[in-house]
Amino acid sequence: MNEASRQVGNARSQPRGQPDRRATEYVVLAEISRIISSTLNIDEIYEQFAQQVALLIPFDRLSISSVDMEAHTVQAVYAVGGDIPGWERGIVHEIVPGGISDILARDRRGLLFRTPAEEEAAGHQPARDLGGDFQTRIAVPLFARSVFVGTLNIRSLQPYAYDENHLAQAERIGAQIAGTIANAFAYGKLEETQRALQNAVTELQRSNQELEQFAYVASHDLQEPLRKIASFCNLLESRYAEQLDDRGNTYLHYIVDGAMRMQALVNDLLLYSRVTTRGKEFLPTKMNDVVQEALANLEVAVGESNAHVTYDPLPQVSGDAGQLARVLQNLIGNALKYRGQEPPRVHVSAEDAGDEWVFSVRDNGIGIAPEYAERIFVIFQRLHTREEYGGTGIGLAVCKKIVERHGGRIWVESQAGAGATFYVSLPKTAE
Ligand code: ADP
Repeated sequence: MNEASRQVGNARSQPRGQPDRRATEYVVLAEISRIISSTLNIDEIYEQFAQQVALLIPFDRLSISSVDMEAHTVQAVYAVGGDIPGWERGIVHEIVPGGISDILARDRRGLLFRTPAEEEAAGHQPARDLGGDFQTRIAVPLFARSVFVGTLNIRSLQPYAYDENHLAQAERIGAQIAGTIANAFAYGKLEETQRALQNAVTELQRSNQELEQFAYVASHDLQEPLRKIASFCNLLESRYAEQLDDRGNTYLHYIVDGAMRMQALVNDLLLYSRVTTRGKEFLPTKMNDVVQEALANLEVAVGESNAHVTYDPLPQVSGDAGQLARVLQNLIGNALKYRGQEPPRVHVSAEDAGDEWVFSVRDNGIGIAPEYAERIFVIFQRLHTREEYGGTGIGLAVCKKIVERHGGRIWVESQAGAGATFYVSLPKTAE
């Protein structure tokens, strides 16, 4: 450090007793590094640090501020001794141009002001930074890996309480604690981020639950009035068709058709919302049994389409057997429904992928263009008209919801016209 370049020069000679102070400084520095490595409690570190500094540089106030150069802010993270209004711990200040933090960041060396007048003469904001009745002040910048992370401020109520030697010592002591302050600050930021993340997750869970509740109530309560519309339309059709002209009958037909479609959609929505509200607890489940149940439910469709469905020996997983059967039933059912010219050939297998099982349902049907690979899993999304293929577009959405409830993923690999393979991953659980 170039003594002559200090903002406030000090012509005083080395104080007597220098060797003693050196010796004390070594002890203090050693003790500070011991304190830093002995506890993770940052407040305890600051506390003991201040006690050690007092052995070397008696003070009436010591404060440590952490600086966030990205946000351009500074805040006291520790203070002991008299108060400085507005500079209590935790109050965040913007770093003002020409203020002490700004000067320390720029000049990268400590400052010594032996009287308020000297500080005022230095030209930074004395009214705010000086504070209280303090007369002498040392302010040193703290650098961790050459990044400006904070300031150490030592104040005395006496004028001329400190000299250049105190300043140099404060700088060396500051260097000792800078890394710890930087770590504590980074840790605090991490905690803050984690807290924000946790809050966002909680909020998301809450709104998700609310949405599910809404879907359930809406679909459940819509059933009854819809049933009424459909049945009275049917009555109208059967009893009064002759009294209506052709146009009237066509209108009535549209109404019945619309009501029936809406019933199907509402039922599907209810089914969808019940994946979570009516889900059963997970039990050890043999996927061989599950595929057999799915095939038993599809017996008619398999027979009608002249399909050949095969499956490999499948592993056991932890899950809701009824829901997993629904997944396989929907996937195999689709393989039969979206068949090509040839009779459907469907194969179910499983692969060990480390910490999960990946099940697959492969078919030789019409396939799906890759650009639709995501969209087909969205509720009520379909690629065909009702005239081409019947359905509401709920099947894969339900599969996705069930699979995700089991902690897995579902996706498809396919090309238009070249068959499709649907994959379902399910996590392996501890035996
Ligand atoms: P739905 O069959 O009622 O339309 P799904 O959610 O089961 O509803 O399927 C969504 C869309 O995905 C279907 O409309 C169809 O276009 C496409 N799809 C699903 N399975 C297959 C398959 N095995 N082969 C080709 N296309 C498929």
